[in-house]
Amino acid sequence: MEKFLLRNTEHPNSADLDAYIKAGGYKALAKSFADKPSDVIDEIKKAGLRGRGGAGFPTGIKWSFAAADPKKPRYVVCNADEGEPGTFKDKPILEKNPHLLIEGMCISGYALEAEYGYIYLRGEYPHAKVILDGAIQQAYDKGFLGDDILGKGVRFHLVVHQGAGAYICGEETALIESLEGKRGQPRKRPPFPVNEGFLGKPTVVNNVETIANIPYIVQIGADKYSQIGNPDCPGPKLFSVSGHVKKPGVYELPMGTSLREIIYDHCGGITGDKALKAVIPGGITTPVLPADSIDCPMDFVNMPKHGSMLGSGAVMVFDETVDLVKVCRRAIRFLEHESCGKCTPCREGVGWLRSILDRVAGGSGRNGDIDLLLEVSKNIMGKTFCPLGDGAAGVVQSFVKHFRSEFEVHVNNAVSVAS
Ligand code: SF4
Repeated sequence: MEKFLLRNTEHPNSADLDAYIKAGGYKALAKSFADKPSDVIDEIKKAGLRGRGGAGFPTGIKWSFAAADPKKPRYVVCNADEGEPGTFKDKPILEKNPHLLIEGMCISGYALEAEYGYIYLRGEYPHAKVILDGAIQQAYDKGFLGDDILGKGVRFHLVVHQGAGAYICGEETALIESLEGKRGQPRKRPPFPVNEGFLGKPTVVNNVETIANIPYIVQIGADKYSQIGNPDCPGPKLFSVSGHVKKPGVYELPMGTSLREIIYDHCGGITGDKALKAVIPGGITTPVLPADSIDCPMDFVNMPKHGSMLGSGAVMVFDETVDLVKVCRRAIRFLEHESCGKCTPCREGVGWLRSILDRVAGGSGRNGDIDLLLEVSKNIMGKTFCPLGDGAAGVVQSFVKHFRSEFEVHVNNAVSVAS
């Protein structure tokens, strides 16, 4: 498949405006200005693009909700708070293809008749901040941002806002709270951000990769775009692959590529040619899968049928030597640390999960601890304010479901693992 999201990123000066223009950049912006804003929204809807941040909500439909709200001003926010462990798929766009993101933001602003956009950037990406600030300045200097873009009277201004390192600010309402200068905690929904978002105005929040797809759709048209990958959720998808593979990295592949293809064809197979034991397919909060499940297509439609989720497309690969009780404990420790504390089932429940897992992994597990993990998970699932609590419960349930015998070995033989 021809690369678009990572096009030219192997070149040393790919972040530079001249290199981007030479490769055909900003042509989609000019093309979109020839259409009415509502036509651009219709084209995105027709393309079938679904949000690449994890939830997979149809982007064009989200846009049409905001466009139907008469309140002004409207805002466009890019969620660049890439904090899910294992996820580094947006990083190459931010650092090596920033003008693609800027062009996508500008088209989004035009379509939504929004004059202001924000890129909410992960605090731990300081290098990306420097690159983005430089690229935004270049775009202003050449008339791709500002009060009269391309001489067409279109106004759009863009700034980067750096987060402070809270995982929960990747959740769109917590992100908006943080952008407003408040403590980053999720808001009650409804009202949804498309109606009452940043400063109470209609706000569309889209992930970096989602926005980077916009110029591609405008450029090749919805019909051609919808033929890439799975027709039910089409387009290119970025997969960040880490763990025990020979060639870890970020891969741009058609949506629906199977885990087997990703691991063995693109990443060269398992390090040291060992056996595969497990895969976390879409970031730390997606349910783990055993080795015999890797023929499932990686997309929003098929992954749930196989007991997991596409999530962010962060594939973490574990070989036969890995202690999965330890992996489960690491995941839950992270989620306990990042729980914002707003709701009790997550604040208290995830702490309980961590405490039981510490006991089991530390060789002091008690009879009944494995069922207790499932019981606590059940009491978190579906009872929390945002998906973090559900994610933690789902992680534990999946590890126990597929690898219960490993937990039993720890409990029965008092096996301890280092942290
Ligand atoms: Fe905060 Fe966790 Fe509740 Fe989400 S589920 S609001 S992170 S306490």
